[in-house]
Amino acid sequence: MPGPGSPAGSVGCVSDSVTVVWDDEFLSYDWGVEHPMNPIRLALTMSLARGLGVLDHPGVTVVRPRPATEEQLTLVHDPAYLDAVRAAPTRPRGVGHGFDSTDNPVFPHMYEASALVTGGSVLAAERVWSGRAQHAVNIAGGLHHAMRSRASGFCVFNDPAVAIARLLELGAERVAYVDVDVHHGDGVQAAFYADPRVLTVSLHQSPLTLFPGTGFPDELGRGDATGTSVNVALPAGTTDEGWHRAFAAVVPSVLRAFRPQVLVTQAGCDTHHEDPLAELALTVDGQRRSYMVLHELAHELCGGRWVAFGGGGYGLVRCVPRAWTHLLAEAVGQRVEPGCPVPEEWRAEVRERGLRTPPPRAMTERDPAAADLAWSAWQPGEDSALARAVAATRRAVFPLHGLDPDDPRD
Ligand SMILES: [Zn+2]
Ligand SMILES: [Zn+2]
Repeated sequence: MPGPGSPAGSVGCVSDSVTVVWDDEFLSYDWGVEHPMNPIRLALTMSLARGLGVLDHPGVTVVRPRPATEEQLTLVHDPAYLDAVRAAPTRPRGVGHGFDSTDNPVFPHMYEASALVTGGSVLAAERVWSGRAQHAVNIAGGLHHAMRSRASGFCVFNDPAVAIARLLELGAERVAYVDVDVHHGDGVQAAFYADPRVLTVSLHQSPLTLFPGTGFPDELGRGDATGTSVNVALPAGTTDEGWHRAFAAVVPSVLRAFRPQVLVTQAGCDTHHEDPLAELALTVDGQRRSYMVLHELAHELCGGRWVAFGGGGYGLVRCVPRAWTHLLAEAVGQRVEPGCPVPEEWRAEVRERGLRTPPPRAMTERDPAAADLAWSAWQPGEDSALARAVAATRRAVFPLHGLDPDDPRD
């Protein structure tokens, strides 16, 4: 387990050029007022990040994307599915392809909004691969459930999968994708299940108790890609400490064995203890810590090449804005201290938007003096639901990478 570096202030790496992909048009990816994925979460994240000066650091470029082209979208999606998405708003009944459900209702300009989000993720990947940016972030991206011919779990186009496919097209030979959303990253796993060039790692609440019902440790990939799908199925109720114990016991070892050239991460923050759709119990501090560790792994293993996306997260006021402001600050190389107060102007904006949830006062949910987490290392033979989950993944995956599942140093 690498040390996490200092908890606040400047990050111990050189993040000299960082691209933040943003366009106010991202807010048109909108399933409607009754839907949990309200784009206000993105608007509030950007205004909180701006209010704290996160985007003012030298080296940060905010870039507007172009929509993903049909050629790019069909790297992952069926051409007939693109046609269906495009036509759906004009005949919203009987569309099929996953749209006839309350999860994924047809919304106006659905194709355009989804293609723009995907274009943002493609742009982030291209800028990192070309070296124009060391890290690139698209908080509107991370729509990891979309399948080849089907919308699923609030996701129309699978922007992380399209971005990874674009990296492969540009010549990448080994891409690692780490998904820390509370839900299994099933669409990305499915897109590359038989492709040994892409390692997908997903930590999520157990599929026995949560959508989409996949992400078991024995989903390992197929053919010569066996071992390149890695799933950690965490028990409901897992806290910051348990989550980081599981991460540390699986992810760094597998990534080091795979030796990726670029790290793509999906930072869904629906692992939060107040999230209305799931039952893990992380704080924004635990989430912030996950971004630190992913960032460090990108520097340790990929020469800093890090492409970071958002994802799920339905705590519109108290979770997403703080979590992803920390993500942006981490990528920018200037961490926001846990004890930093939330600007009064931002709290006023929350109230002015008519949101009834009381806005938070600080960037931490812990005692700021103790916000830097500590946890004990996983030990083989330990008997707890979490330890059994970790052991199941290590036993399934580690031997395929020449690692010893029973050696805690691996
Ligand atoms: Zn960096
Ligand atoms: Zn999710």
